[in-house]
Amino acid sequence: MNTEILSSTDLNIMRCASRLKAGELVAFPTETVYALGAIATDAQAVKKVYEVKSRPTDKPLIVAVAKKSDIQKVVKSIPKKAQILIDRFMPGALTLVLDRADVIPDEVTVGSESVAVRIPDNAVAKKLIELAGAPVVVPSANTADKASPTLAAHVKDDLDGKIEYILDGGASEIGIESTIVDARTEPPTVLRVGGVTVEQLKQAIGEVKTLRQDARLSGYMPNAEVLFSAYYDGMTENICKRYDEITAQQKTAVIICLDGNRDCYGDRNVYTVGDSYEAYAHNLFAVLRKADGEHYDAVIAEGVNPEGLGESLIARLIKLSGGMII
Ligand code: AMP
Ligand code: MG
Repeated sequence: MNTEILSSTDLNIMRCASRLKAGELVAFPTETVYALGAIATDAQAVKKVYEVKSRPTDKPLIVAVAKKSDIQKVVKSIPKKAQILIDRFMPGALTLVLDRADVIPDEVTVGSESVAVRIPDNAVAKKLIELAGAPVVVPSANTADKASPTLAAHVKDDLDGKIEYILDGGASEIGIESTIVDARTEPPTVLRVGGVTVEQLKQAIGEVKTLRQDARLSGYMPNAEVLFSAYYDGMTENICKRYDEITAQQKTAVIICLDGNRDCYGDRNVYTVGDSYEAYAHNLFAVLRKADGEHYDAVIAEGVNPEGLGESLIARLIKLSGGMII
């Protein structure tokens, strides 16, 4: 199969919607990461998603709809706090777990009576789902061993020959996955931290339960060993010291840092990720891919404050580093 990257013209979005309706898979942009879509009510199409991604078959898929009034078509009921979260954060990087409606097959939820639903805040994604006329599953469009894709080219690297079309919508704005909240519990439970922060959730609905932050993150691990620094005054010196120890052992290393700290690392290898936590999140998966592509033995990531998106970054970096905090 030839995999084509298509610009997001109306005609191409229509073409992709009709491929979805025919039971095929299409990759498309969302504001979190690129998604591998299939019609959620088509069990055969959903099965293909697991095959193409080599996704563990016990990991349920998130379902996306195009607008708020479509949520009630995939769930049995919407509790009051869920409705507040919908009004406040959708469309956006929030996924709610609710009781599933009968139209959602077991293949999507892996047999669970719940379903995870969100509305992407991306015009191409919304148009595609609207034209497909049905809810669409939206796992990240990578194979299980790769970082979530934030560019059409990343999708092509991973899924070339396995799907027909990738709709190109430029870089995913947020760059990390959605926050997942189980809205069936009281108080609601945060299952994964992502693009919407716990502070934002608390502002909207008061108390929330949180699980261990890294419990629900994806199975992706880069080839390079990832070291993640604690955030403190001596951080950049400590990172330099670690870097020099690693390279003294004839290994290669690269530091992931904010623009403002670039000069602290002299002529060591560095990937800069911008000047804010938003920019760090936006670029994280792309630089990890780059490190794999350039065959670095080690990646040393700067630590961040646990505020705002910093919390979501820390959760990912703890997971990626296997807890190796330096
Ligand atoms: P990914 O597609 O890699 O972003 O993973 C989707 C995430 O959503 C996984 O962590 C799933 O466990 C979670 N998820 C999807 N559906 C449900 C559900 N019905 N209940 C709880 N978690 C879910
Ligand atoms: Mg993923």
